[in-house]
Parts: sequence; C-alpha cells; structure tokens
Amino acid sequence: MTQRDRKPITKSKKEFNYPNFIGIGLAHILAFCGIWYMFVYGVSVTNWILFAVFSLLTGFGITVGYHRMLTHRGFQCSKPLRWAFAIMGGMAGEGYEYEWVANHRVHHFFSDQEQDPHSPLAYPGAKGFLWAHIGWLFFKYERPSLYKTFQDLDKDPVTQWQRSFYLPIVLLGFLIPFLITGLSGILIAGFVRLVFVWHTTWSVNSICHLFGSRAKDSEGNLYTRDDSRNNLLVAIFALGEGYHANHHLRPAWAYHGWEWYHLDMSKWLIRCFEMAGLVWNVKKPVRAGAFQEKEMEKIA
Ligand SMILES: [Zn+2]
Ligand SMILES: [Zn+2]
Repeated sequence: MTQRDRKPITKSKKEFNYPNFIGIGLAHILAFCGIWYMFVYGVSVTNWILFAVFSLLTGFGITVGYHRMLTHRGFQCSKPLRWAFAIMGGMAGEGYEYEWVANHRVHHFFSDQEQDPHSPLAYPGAKGFLWAHIGWLFFKYERPSLYKTFQDLDKDPVTQWQRSFYLPIVLLGFLIPFLITGLSGILIAGFVRLVFVWHTTWSVNSICHLFGSRAKDSEGNLYTRDDSRNNLLVAIFALGEGYHANHHLRPAWAYHGWEWYHLDMSKWLIRCFEMAGLVWNVKKPVRAGAFQEKEMEKIA
C-alpha cells in the first residue's frame, strides 16, 4: 500500500482550546512588538547573545531532551543533565514533558493516520499544512484510549516535578533576560525567541510531512508507510530534526542525520555529552556513515 492508496483522514468535531489560542496569539503579538523594537531601536550585542543562547538552550531542551531522550529513550543521561533538560525544555513553552511526549508518541504510533494529532494529510492543501503547523494546537486533543497513560512518565519524578513547576520554569526564560537587559531582553530573548523556536518545532510537523525526500532504497522503494520527509532547511533551523523520514524509520536512534555530512546539531551535542561521560547507551546507526539498506524493512 502506498500513501496515495490510503483513505483520507476524517476529522471528528473538536472542542476549541481557548487558553492555547489566546496564549499563542498573545505571544505572537509580543514577538512582533519585539521585531518592531529591533528595527526601530536596533539590537545590542548582549541581546543578540541572549537570543542565541536561549534559542539554543530551549531548542536543544526540546530536540535532545523532550524528543530524543524522553520520548524515544535514545540515550540515558546523568541526573544533573536530566534536570537541566527538564528546565531547558520547559522554558521552550511547548507544554510540560508529559503532554509533549505522550502526544508525540501517539504521532509515531498513528503517523499520518486518523488518530495522528497533527498530520497535514488531515485536510487537503494549505489547510492541511496549517493544521499540522499550528491549527491542531487550537483544539483539545483527546488521545486514543489505548494511549492515555504512559507508565514510564508516571513513574518519573522529574516529569512529575516539571509538571508542577511548569509555569515558573517558562517564566524563568523571561526573567533571566529581564535581569540582564531589562524590557528589551523580555521582548527579544523572551518573546521573539519563544515564537522562533515554536515555529522550528512546528515546521517538523508540517513541512517534514509534506516537503522533502522520503526514505527510499536505491531502487526507489519506500521504507516508511507515513509521509515523513527529510528536509535540509528544517534540519538547519530545528537543530537536526529535519531528517524526519530517517527518524520515522528508526525512531529510537538518537541520531537523525545518519551520514557525517548531515547537519544534525542535536546529534553533535549528544556525541559531545557522550565523550564527556554525561550520556551513555546512545542508540545510533549500526555502522557509522552507512545507511544499512539490507537491514531496513521495505514496504512498497
Ligand atoms: Zn512525524
Ligand atoms: Zn519522534
């Protein structure tokens, strides 16, 4: 069965999520104020540095912490690093660990099928793109009953702690820039950074299920049933997450870019932590630099 043979996804009526809509809307308005401020008053070197540092801290918090470590258990790490990831990922304002991880696991279970929380195939054309990118966040998502609990997360004290202190953690990402550069720090390293990192994450859900190359062998046979794609541009902005077809093929691997020349910054960070002894049991491609065609299951 190929993608085109599949039945279109039908969406049941969903309940609007007003808090998400207002929160995301307000953050965008304030981010636009920040961009306006940058054009009118310029940006100090300190604010550029704060923007870069907080983009990387929160970005890696999501890609390495929430995604590769917690959702897919791609590696194990030391306790201090585990706490650091909980704070870095929380500051990204993409929800607390439990919700993010649970929803993303369901995305992998039902990728581009009806129960997928954010497949662009849910609607035709641009509407599908917008749904996968941002629209799904404006509706209350009811996880399929089979996937309502995740025991490993229920037992994880850091995940439970992060849930209780989620709001103060998000605010920390605004408080620190404020203490250093004042209100301009809140706008630039706070809101512009927050919205920038959101869109990099959301691009994986939208662009990387629509545009790019699919995982195929040398004869053009597809390896994945879903419509996941490898997209270099998304990989650059989303710290390596753009190698999304690779990721859907081997979700547990902590490396999404499998070749040495793949721009997977999250892989490089994990490699650095591994060399420093801070992470271990890293799941990675069987042989460095090799795409193991014969080990992959062909579906087409
Ligand atoms: Zn995906
Ligand atoms: Zn994943």
